[in-house]
Order: sequence, then structure tokens, then C-alpha cells
Amino acid sequence: MTEKRLFGTNGVRGIAGADMTPALTLSIGLALGSMRTGHIAVGRDTRTSGPALASAVKAGLLATGCDVTDCGILPTPALQYLVKEHFDAGAMITASHNPPEYNGVKVIEPDGTEMGDEETIRLEAKILDEKVPLVTWNATGREYQATHLVREYTDAVVEQFPAGIGDGITVVVDPGCGAACATTPEILTRLGCRVVTINSQMDGTFPGRLPEPSPEGLRPLGELVRSTGAALGIAHDGDADRAVFLDENGTFIEENQEFGLIAGQVCRARKGTVVMPVSTSRLVETIAHQNGCDVRYTPVGSIYVARAMRALEAEGTPVAFGGEGNGGLIYPDHQYCRDGGMTAAMMIAILAREHGTVSDLVAALPMFHLIKEKIRGTDPSAMITTLSAAFAGESIDRTDGIRINREESWALIRPSGTEPLVRVIVESPDKKTAHAFFDEIMKNIGQSSKK
Ligand code: MG
Repeated sequence: MTEKRLFGTNGVRGIAGADMTPALTLSIGLALGSMRTGHIAVGRDTRTSGPALASAVKAGLLATGCDVTDCGILPTPALQYLVKEHFDAGAMITASHNPPEYNGVKVIEPDGTEMGDEETIRLEAKILDEKVPLVTWNATGREYQATHLVREYTDAVVEQFPAGIGDGITVVVDPGCGAACATTPEILTRLGCRVVTINSQMDGTFPGRLPEPSPEGLRPLGELVRSTGAALGIAHDGDADRAVFLDENGTFIEENQEFGLIAGQVCRARKGTVVMPVSTSRLVETIAHQNGCDVRYTPVGSIYVARAMRALEAEGTPVAFGGEGNGGLIYPDHQYCRDGGMTAAMMIAILAREHGTVSDLVAALPMFHLIKEKIRGTDPSAMITTLSAAFAGESIDRTDGIRINREESWALIRPSGTEPLVRVIVESPDKKTAHAFFDEIMKNIGQSSKK
């Protein structure tokens, strides 16, 4: 298969005004408009470069004969939901968690999922190589404005839960001045929660914190959680396909622990397969098994998780849920994409059922020790060949890079999808075993151990 040249695992991204320009998004609009017919939805996050880039995408779509509905500023999962319900494709102008100067485009298929690899390669060929034919004056598309449609998305999330499930629960929401300003506070209020907000005004300069919801950037959120006596702090990345949480003390909940908490909640009610990338902690597998669910591993990337979920359902295998351990969870009853608003609402359902505090719930999870490292300046495929030979007698999984599975430990070594480096993850129930395993891998690839 030809490699993707412009698009990474989550669309095309770059610095606005340098590599991400209206000229590029115009050609994306033209290419998409020539591949898809009908009515295309366009949305964006709060970035300052959004209006210029969205206008150019729309121009390309209209000039190739597609009708366009501009849904305004909304989360990526909200646009995905609207595309699934009403449109023939979508284009979301966002750079997700990247810093304010970045922007990008995610292309959405009619079923609401992000465009897969093969179609993306076709799209890129049209962007880079081909002259796209424009339609004549009487076949040009029409443009509609529909910023009210986002309400359908918040309705859809709220309808997944019993009325008043959040009664008596105080939460603090930090949308980071991004797209969730319009959705998550409303969703949680409608579930019955008392909602306090911070960074909840849309602002593409991101004055409160960067779009990546990092523990450092969420310190003010943590202070507000403590001072309001809230049960939970909730934060999103710039386009709100992810949600991360702070406990009642303002302490950041590690991503696999978040995934584990939600696995406990979902797998209790829904039996089936939990689908997740090979980079996910065994914590989630352990909890899935405890609740009578099994697991299926995919390559790293939410699109692979979503597609594997659909394939399982198509063959008649029930799916419990899926997701990536970075706060991006996918609920099949709602839609097949990562959804931060839905994840936030699911945490409220957990709090409504459990009697303990969030920190109690986290403390009750099985403990694993995780080492994550990056290795630069090596040839990834040579490294993986070496490791395949070195660990040939063990249980090897080649879904993405190489995963070595042992009784209680595992290691994943894979080339990064976004940067020129190799990622190494090692996990064991205890620190000593994890470090010994890590050292063993480093020795085999001729690297000195950094840990
Ligand atoms: Mg995102």
C-alpha cells in the first residue's frame, strides 16, 4: 500500500500560515468534493485560523458541486454525530490538542468515522497530483448555516443516561476555551449536576491553558475542584474528542486508570469485546475479564479501534465498547468515534452508582507499573527485526510494531505514527520486573538503558 504523505493518524496538521494554509484547505475541499457528492458538513474548533481555513474548504466543496452546511464551532465528535445522522461527509477544521498556532483538517465519512487509510491515500493523490474538474455555474453547491445543530449532539449524549443521574453531584469543567465550551457544561447540567466552569469562554488564543489537557495546565482546575468541594474535575482537549479527569483532591487520573474505571462501569452492563490499541495497560484487560468481557487489540489509532469495532459487530460479535487510553473512548450505542462529552457523562454515571470518592475508586484499581520511553536516531524496522529474533521463543504480537507478552508483563516497541522515533512501553505488576524487562529490551537493540 502506498504511504500517506500529508495525513497522519488523525488528519492533516501544521502551523497556520506556514504549512497549514487556505490554499491547502482549498485543495482539500476540491479533492473531497470531487470524491464525494451530496451534502457536506463543515465545522471547526475555536482556533483563530479556523474561519479562514473553513472558508477555503467550503469554497472547494461548493465549486465541485457539493452543498455545504456550516455547523460553526463544535467538538469533533459533535460534527461526527451530525454527519452520521444527516450528511454525506464532513470536514472538521481542528488541530485537536496541538498548540494554538497549529490547525488541521479531519475528514469524516458518512457513518461518522474518520476517513480510513485507503480513501485518505486517494484523497491525497487528488490534493497533490490531479487537477480537479470544477462544475459549471448552474451546478455550484449551496451553502447553509446551521450552528443550532450542535444541540442534536448534546441531546443524543443526554439521552444515553437516566434522567437526573447527576443530581447532587458537583463537578468542575475545564473546556480549555475550546470547542467543548458549547457542549459539556450543558450536557452535565442537563444530567442534573451542579456545574462550575473554568476556561469556558471560546477563545482561540487559549489564554487559560494550552489545548492539551496536561497535569500542569490543569492546576487551576484542581484548585477550583478543591475550593468548590466538587467530586470531579473534567478537562478536554481543543476539539473535545478526549476527556481527562481530576479526582476530588485535584489529582490527575492517569489515562489507563480512567479507561479502567470506565471499563468497570460499561462492562458491568454490556457484555462483549472491549476493543483497544496494543499500547493499552493490562489494567483494562484485567477489569474486562473480571466483568465477563473479552478484549481485542488493534494498531494504535482511534480509527483502527473504531473500524475493528464495526467489523466485530458486522460478523455478529457483540462489542462492549472501545477506546484509546488517552481519554478517547468510543461507545457503540452512541457513535463509532472518540467522544469527550460522552466520556464525561459516563464518569457521572460511575459517581452516581458508587458510594466512594473518585480517589477511592482509583485506589481500588489493580496496580501496574508502566515505563514509557522514546528512542531516536534508529531504524525502526531493523530494530523490530532484531527484537523478533531475540524474543522468538516468547509470545509475540505483531499487530503494531512488536508486542512481547509474558505471564504478568508485556512490552510494546513500535515506530511513532507522528514523529521520527520509536516508542517503547513496558508494563509489569511491579517496578523491579518492569525495569528488568526494559533493560533486557535495550540490551538486545544495543541501547544503553536510560532508566
Ligand atoms: Mg482531539
